[in-house]
Amino acid sequence: MSAEIHEFQVEARQLLQLVIHSIYSNKDVFLRELVSNASDALDKLRLEALRDDTLGVDVSDLHIGIEADAQARTLTVRDNGVGMSREEVVALIGTIASSGTARLLQELKDTKDADAAAGLIGQFGVGFYSAFMVADEVTVVTRRAAESQGTRWTSRGEGTYSVETVDEAPQGTTVALRLKPVDVENQLHDYTDAWKLREIVKRYSDFITWPIRMPAPATTAAGTDTDTDTDSDAIEPAPAGLETVNSMKALWARPREEVSEDEYHELYKHLAHDWLNPAEIIRLQAEGTFEYQALLFIPSHAPHDLFARDQRRGLQLYVKRVHIMDDCEELLPPYLRFIKGVVDAQDLSLNVSREILQQDRQIQMIHRRLTKKVLSTIKDMMTSAPDRYATIWREFGRALKEGLLDDYDNRDSLLALCSFASTQDTDELTTLSQYLERMKDGQEEIYYLTGNSRETIENSPHMEAFRAKGIEVLLLTDAVDEVWVTTVPSFDGKQLRSVAKGEVDLHADEQDTQADSERESRQKEYTDLLTWMTEVLAEDVKEVRLSTRLTVSPACLVSDTHDITPALENMYRAMGQDIPRTQRILELNPSHALVNNLNKAHAERGDDGGADGLAGIAELLHGMALIAEGGALKDPARFAKLMADHLAI
Ligand code: ADP
Ligand code: MG
Repeated sequence: MSAEIHEFQVEARQLLQLVIHSIYSNKDVFLRELVSNASDALDKLRLEALRDDTLGVDVSDLHIGIEADAQARTLTVRDNGVGMSREEVVALIGTIASSGTARLLQELKDTKDADAAAGLIGQFGVGFYSAFMVADEVTVVTRRAAESQGTRWTSRGEGTYSVETVDEAPQGTTVALRLKPVDVENQLHDYTDAWKLREIVKRYSDFITWPIRMPAPATTAAGTDTDTDTDSDAIEPAPAGLETVNSMKALWARPREEVSEDEYHELYKHLAHDWLNPAEIIRLQAEGTFEYQALLFIPSHAPHDLFARDQRRGLQLYVKRVHIMDDCEELLPPYLRFIKGVVDAQDLSLNVSREILQQDRQIQMIHRRLTKKVLSTIKDMMTSAPDRYATIWREFGRALKEGLLDDYDNRDSLLALCSFASTQDTDELTTLSQYLERMKDGQEEIYYLTGNSRETIENSPHMEAFRAKGIEVLLLTDAVDEVWVTTVPSFDGKQLRSVAKGEVDLHADEQDTQADSERESRQKEYTDLLTWMTEVLAEDVKEVRLSTRLTVSPACLVSDTHDITPALENMYRAMGQDIPRTQRILELNPSHALVNNLNKAHAERGDDGGADGLAGIAELLHGMALIAEGGALKDPARFAKLMADHLAI
């Protein structure tokens, strides 16, 4: 069958160009990526063979092979893993499936910072494409486990690649690189040099649990390896003429002091398919009746699909050093889905299924313990590593706050590690404890306001009295904030209270009694107006009353203490829930000339009939209050017309 020429998907081509014209200076990592893919392929084949014994594949000697030919300037990375079908090759290597690609590509083009660019590249999972940093032609020959024919894929990384079906292909995948000329100045080393290759494997892939074999150096036959590793539990002897270059030791099983930070970082990059170092490493060792080790990582950036519905999540599960499962969701709650890592349990059965895991008490115990450990680690970072905490909060805060909705056991720990914008400071975020420390004498509640952006809510009329009295208000602008504030009643004994809900009573000053009597006489003065306006606006609001929260604006809309906010209402509707519209309360500011004059005019003229008269002004007041809080008018054209008519002089 002749080769078919395909074009790379546009995004894939752009990305390849970026990779080839090398925004990434350290070219050595291409080998880490190819080895990482080979290792994944071996993991997958082992699992498939375990689940399906009719697969008819040989899993007796799963390994990775690296061979170089200095004369021909070629380098080959081979595995006898799961392989790819022809369709898979085209789908996995010719296209980038991830959503948000276009946006990320744009960011990538805009960035001049090589490290940031490298991080962005990593988010695509362009692992395989990194081969084109060092090769001008890449050929993949692969055969999917249990299929008889293989596929040969070749590309120079330009616009196209070719694919053909081949009859003869060994089990697994062979990636052959035709290397570019050595260019040490640009960090393009001689990747046919056995020592260089060994060094790279040792540095980046030592922990890979499958043997990585290279031809044994001609002069040093078997036995000269100084690091004979008699205590090694995993290494089997390599076939004659070959040697295993990696120690294959699981990092989590090695004594803590022995493992360097770099080694942890490389394991993280393999597990997370990330190119950047993690923000934090968490080790956990449980001994006793139920023994397990956990090695968790908090990434330093959020994946672009953190909020996608079908996002893959979960840790890798091992049983006694044997890889059992990827994406094991049962080990952590959904709001910690960004955590990467490994759990190695001693006492689980090797063929444990997902169904069993969901019921398993030991898994539930691990889940509880890991959750607490992650939360306490983040909490500790607030003081021990404030910069890295800030990164974690910026990247994952929105996900963490989801935990406030349903993780009752950890609610207090979660609240303690949250940070929020506040009227106190324009740049710095504040914690709830810091808020409590700053509370004024006599202040009994934690005030907040939710909304779309800091600007809208900070300038919202609801804030006026709080600003006038210098009372701090938390500014909550994430969608999830609308929801968790309805489920969390208090923090450290202080109620959380929206400044846009219920009556405000800021009796923090001494003229209180005087203010009270003033309020009473005003109330009398306005009773008629309020009753009349409540009738006029009956379709839109449930009540019109005088406000104590306004100092400058004529009016604002508030919700009853236990009613849901319009934003939340909209969110429920967007999710397809048909809930009744909640009517709000219109509050008027009697010190404002507009309200004051309206009251006088109403006392003189009563209801003078229709929109041309006072009823039109009532309607305008309601519309203005809606606009001021960033809300949307029901009928903007009508509002504009009313306004024009009333402004005409
Ligand atoms: P990632 O590893 O992050 O998914 P890569 O670009 O490294 O991204 O690889 C893309 C995909 O190609 C992999 O997810 C895998 O499905 C497939 N692939 C790459 N190399 C191999 C291999 N050696 N064996 C089987 N599949 C492979
Ligand atoms: Mg990869």
